[in-house]
Amino acid sequence: MEYTFVSREALVPRKIKRSVCPYDCPDTCGLLVEVSEGMAARVMGDPGHPFTRGTLCPKMNRYQDTVHSPLRLTQPLLRTGSKGSGDYRPISWEEAITHIADRWQKIIGQFGAEAILPYSYAGTMGLIQRNAGHPFFHCLGASRLDRTICSPAKETGWKSVMGETSAPHPDEVAESDLVILWGINALATNIHFLHGVKAARRRGAKVWLIDTYQNLTSSVVDQIFLVRPGSDGALALGLMHLLVHDGLIDLDFIKTHVQGFEELKERILPDYPPEKVSFLTGLSPETIHSMARAYGSAKRPFIRLGAGLSRYGNGAMIVRTIVSLPALVGSYGKKGAGCFTSTSTSGAFAMKEILREDFMTKETRIINMNRLGLALNELNDPPIKSLYVYTSNPAAVAPDQNQVLKGLAREDLFTVVHERFMTDTARYADIILPSTSSLEHSDLHRAYGHYCIQRAKAVIPPVGESKSNWEVFSLLAQKMGFDDPFFQQKADDLIDHLLSIPSPMREGIDEEAFSGGMAVELPLLPDARTRFRTPSGKIEILNPRESHPLPCFLPPYGGDYPFRLMTAPSFYALNSTFRERADLLKKERAMFLQMSPADAEAKGLKEGQRVIAFNQLGEVSFVLRITPNVPSGVVVAEGVWWLEHCPGSRSVNALTSQKLTDQGGGSTFYDNTVDVRPDKE
Ligand code: SF4
Repeated sequence: MEYTFVSREALVPRKIKRSVCPYDCPDTCGLLVEVSEGMAARVMGDPGHPFTRGTLCPKMNRYQDTVHSPLRLTQPLLRTGSKGSGDYRPISWEEAITHIADRWQKIIGQFGAEAILPYSYAGTMGLIQRNAGHPFFHCLGASRLDRTICSPAKETGWKSVMGETSAPHPDEVAESDLVILWGINALATNIHFLHGVKAARRRGAKVWLIDTYQNLTSSVVDQIFLVRPGSDGALALGLMHLLVHDGLIDLDFIKTHVQGFEELKERILPDYPPEKVSFLTGLSPETIHSMARAYGSAKRPFIRLGAGLSRYGNGAMIVRTIVSLPALVGSYGKKGAGCFTSTSTSGAFAMKEILREDFMTKETRIINMNRLGLALNELNDPPIKSLYVYTSNPAAVAPDQNQVLKGLAREDLFTVVHERFMTDTARYADIILPSTSSLEHSDLHRAYGHYCIQRAKAVIPPVGESKSNWEVFSLLAQKMGFDDPFFQQKADDLIDHLLSIPSPMREGIDEEAFSGGMAVELPLLPDARTRFRTPSGKIEILNPRESHPLPCFLPPYGGDYPFRLMTAPSFYALNSTFRERADLLKKERAMFLQMSPADAEAKGLKEGQRVIAFNQLGEVSFVLRITPNVPSGVVVAEGVWWLEHCPGSRSVNALTSQKLTDQGGGSTFYDNTVDVRPDKE
C-alpha cells in the first residue's frame, strides 16, 4: 500500500511505503518510510499497526541515518592488514564468493565441513533473512550453532509450568489493577507495552517494578522493589508462602487447574518464611508481607516478566518459580491478569520450509554460541577453521570477550563477516561482505511481544553493492555446486510459498490488509484462559519430569569479587546495534559504570573519573557514575559498546563468563562479579 505526494519543500515526488523494524525487540514496530529518489528520506511509526500504533523508540526515529550512514560498507572487502586492524581493499562480488568457496573447499578437504561454523543471531528478526543461512549450512554439513544467547532459560521456565500455553494478549494489561514489571526495563526494551500499562494506571491500577537497580522504567511506576541479583525466585517463593499462610489463594481455581498445590504447600510453608526470603532478597519481611497482601488482594494482577532475570545460573528456575505464582491466585483464568513472558507464534508459518533440516545428510555437531571463545580456542576434532558471521557481532556481544578476540585473531581461522558496518567482529574478517538494511530487502515478520505478523518488501534499492543474507547464500550455494531449486528462488518466492501453506494460527486474519503490507493480528485461541496446554492439562507447579519436581530456590553462580555486575540494556542502543549513530552516542555520552554513593565513598572514587572493573576474565575501563539508583554491592553497565567508543580497549563482555544457565544452555550475562579500582588514564 503506498501513495504519492509532492513535498512542498522541493517539489520532489515522495512515496510513503510500509516496512517493519527488524531488530531484536519484542515490539516489531510497523514503519512508514518516506521514499524520495530511491532513498529513505524519513522513517516514522505506522499508526495503522495494531500494537505499536505509530510511535517508535528513539533508536529508530531517525533510521534513515542508519540506512544512509556514511559508515555503511558498500563493497566486498579483502583483508590487507593484520587481523583487527581494519585494513582492507575492495574486491568484486565474484572475487569474494570465489575466494570463500575455494577456502571452504580446501578446509573441507583437509578437516571436513564441521570445521566451518556459522555464527548468527537476531541482528535482523525477519524470518527469511535471519534464517537464510540454515539451508546452506545444512547442505554444506557445517557445525551447527545452538542459538541460545538470549532467553532459552526463560522459555524453559515457562514451559516447565505452562507447557505450550499461549501468553495472554499484551494489551490485556490495560484491564489489570496491579501491574508488575518484573525484571524488565520496559522503557528501554518494550516501550509499546507501556501504552497498556499507562491505560491501566489511568483506571487506578498500581504499577510495580521489581528489579536489581532503579532503571529508567522506575519513572513510570508507583513502587519499586530492588532485590539482590539472582534472588527473584526466592521472592516468588516467599510471596507464595504468605499467600498460602494468609489464605489469599483461589482454592477453586487451584483444585480445577493446578497440579501439585499440596506438595508445594508442604515445601514452601517450612522452607520459605519471610525472614529467610528477606535474607535472600534483601527486602524487609514487612515489605514482603505488604507485597503478598497487595498481590493476593488484587483482582487482576498482571506480571510482565523480562528476560534479564533468566540470565543467571539459576535463570530457568527463577522463571519457573515466578510463572507458578499467578496460579495460586487464579489469575491465569482471568482477562487482564496472569503472566506475560513472550508470545509464541512459530506455528504461524511452516518454519521447516525455511530451515530445511532435511538438507542435512548427517547430524552434525552443535556448538553453543555462548561458548564461542572456547570453540575457537580449544575445540578439536575438527578444530574450527572457518567462521561465517551474519546478523551478529560476537566480538562485542558474546561473553568472555578476551577469549573471543583471541580466537578471532587466529591467523589460521578464515573468517567471513556479512555486515552493514565495520563492527568489532568485521575488523577480524578475512572477507567482509556488505549487507543490506531491512529497507532494502524483503522479509516476513512475527513478533515475540505481541501477536502481529507482517510482510515487508524492499522499499529502496540496495545501498552500494550490498546484498541480503538470502542473496549471498544463493550465490554461495551456486558456487559450491548446490543445485537444489530451493537456492534459486528469490526471497519473495519463499515468502509466497510459506503463505500458500495454511496454518490454523492464521485462520481469520485480515488477508486483504496483510497482502497490502499491513500488520495484522493472529487471533488468540478462544479457550486460551481455560485450557492449559501441558501434558496433564493443568498448570504444572509440580512437574515430575524435572530434576527438581517443585520450584525451589537455587543460588546463582555469584563469584569471588565484591560487586554483582549488571550488564543492563541501554535506552539508546540495542545490544551492539545502532552504535554507528553519532546522535545516539552523544545522548548516551559515555560508557558508564554506575555505582552507589556508599560504595564509591568506601572505594574513594569520584563522579566522572575513569575506573577499571575487573575479575578473573579481564578488565574494562569505564567512566564512573555515582547514583543512588544502584544499591550497594551492585554495579551497572548499560549497553554493549563498540571497542572504538570505549574508554579502554575492552567492552563489558570482557567481564562476563561462558557459563550456562541451569537449563536451556542460555547465557549468564547477569551472573558475574567484579571489583573496581581507579584507572590510571
Ligand atoms: S527497536 Fe523496538 S521499539 Fe524501537 S522501533 Fe524497533 S521494534 Fe520498535
